Amino acid sequence: MDLKHFIRDIPDFPKPGIIFKDVTPLLRDPEAFKESIELLKNAASFWDFDLIVAPEARGFIFAAPLALEMGKGFIPIRKPGKLPYKVISKSYSLEYGEAALEMHKDAIVERNKVLILDDVLATGGTIKAIAEMIEEAGGEVAGILTLIELSFLEPRKKLKDYQVKALITY
Ligand code: AMP
Repeated sequence: MDLKHFIRDIPDFPKPGIIFKDVTPLLRDPEAFKESIELLKNAASFWDFDLIVAPEARGFIFAAPLALEMGKGFIPIRKPGKLPYKVISKSYSLEYGEAALEMHKDAIVERNKVLILDDVLATGGTIKAIAEMIEEAGGEVAGILTLIELSFLEPRKKLKDYQVKALITY
């Protein structure tokens, strides 16, 4: 099955000039969704890790079934003000302006090995910020895995210190 057929391009969303990679057709198809989790599992099996860390909202959709399937724990990364307990925060720059992400302070303990997962790797800024949070908490980034990589944005330049894999590359 070619998962690319289930990813829809939405031009000029959320802003002019951006081609949004819409994964909702893939999620709507039970076979394609299942296949995506199987392929993510095969790719992730390469690394030794205990926890899967993923940002809201689409990262959650892939990370939760993968965590269950692989017998790993799941740690949510959220936008500011959403997590109820004490948090670690990280600000990072977007194409225009700044954004921030938060993780529970006790989510990662010293030497935890972590897989970072998301749907789309674009500039790499989001995943870089997550990797820094994990390391500041004393954890170790075992690998970075995404469904889609927009290689023309050169995200791997920002992620030179890490092993990165993607199922589908544009
Ligand atoms: P970045 O920090 O630039 O790598 O952006 C990654 C985050 O923004 C991910 O959580 C993606 O879900 C989302 N994102 C960025 N660009 C796109 C795109 N063209 N299509 C879909 N999602 C995107």
